[in-house]
Amino acid sequence: MLAVGSAAAEPGEAAQGWIDVPDRADAGTQIPVTVVHGARPGSVLALVAGTHGYEYTSVLALQRLRARLDPARMSGAVILVHMANPPCFYGRRVYYGPDAKNLNRVYPGAPDGTVSERIAHALTREVIERCTHLADMHCGDGNEACRPYAYWIVSGNRAVDAGSRELALAYGLDHIVVDRGRPTDLARSAFTSNTAILRGKPAVTTESGGMGRTDEVSVGNHERGAASLVAHLGILDLPSARVERPVWLDRNEVLRAPATGVWHPVVEPMQHLAAGTLVGRLTDPYGALLHEVRAPFAGIVLYIVATPPVTEGEPLGGFGAVATTDY
Ligand SMILES: [Zn+2]
Repeated sequence: MLAVGSAAAEPGEAAQGWIDVPDRADAGTQIPVTVVHGARPGSVLALVAGTHGYEYTSVLALQRLRARLDPARMSGAVILVHMANPPCFYGRRVYYGPDAKNLNRVYPGAPDGTVSERIAHALTREVIERCTHLADMHCGDGNEACRPYAYWIVSGNRAVDAGSRELALAYGLDHIVVDRGRPTDLARSAFTSNTAILRGKPAVTTESGGMGRTDEVSVGNHERGAASLVAHLGILDLPSARVERPVWLDRNEVLRAPATGVWHPVVEPMQHLAAGTLVGRLTDPYGALLHEVRAPFAGIVLYIVATPPVTEGEPLGGFGAVATTDY
């Protein structure tokens, strides 16, 4: 029996249900999950969609993938977290939950914390603890234009890092950020994928789509990538999307708003910029220039905030430098 929340499936069966996040000081929620339990043993892949509420491409991709998973023909299992963050999805919230916390910064969570912390705790206990591999599927949030890429998180654990690299390649997105900047403290893992990695489970974070859109290319990338992971792990024979020669980006930086104001970006995702190139202008509400934001080094725009409101300290975009060595 493989049980995740109320979804419990015997070998050769699929089941759907909820992970219950009870009310505490604030309102709880129920996280919809499907468990597809193969007839034969094998890897257990967790696919997590909808961590951020205005990111829809992964939610739609998992609905499609579910229909393609036949437990009778599978070795191992797939846990589909269809929507990790229902209060943000149904509330149409960018970045933050009703508790003003970003779910993808509060792992491993706390059983008596605010709702985002309780969701993180429930997903750690029910999903991350039970899987052998994990993919955390994102896109640009409702205000972010983004081109597809994956994060390969390098933790220093060679075996886990090698497994994570294979997941990043198997997902098929042709730009991969080599990310060495994640926390190493198990009690402050912060991010979904990092929480799995620090528990010895290879994981990848993927980005396809943005701006609240549900375009076919972006949804299709996630569906193809997730199916390819299922194939890569030998769970079910599905088409591989593996990328053989990705563009590796081994330096990355989040550009942050130096002040609260009105943002005027002048670049597009995947644009190559020389160091010092103008990325955008920040004005006050009347139109007076507050700051010019420039590329910190030569590199590629991974994503860019493409709508005007920005708050001091929040992201304006993500920026990465193309690696000169192969990974
Ligand atoms: Zn996200």
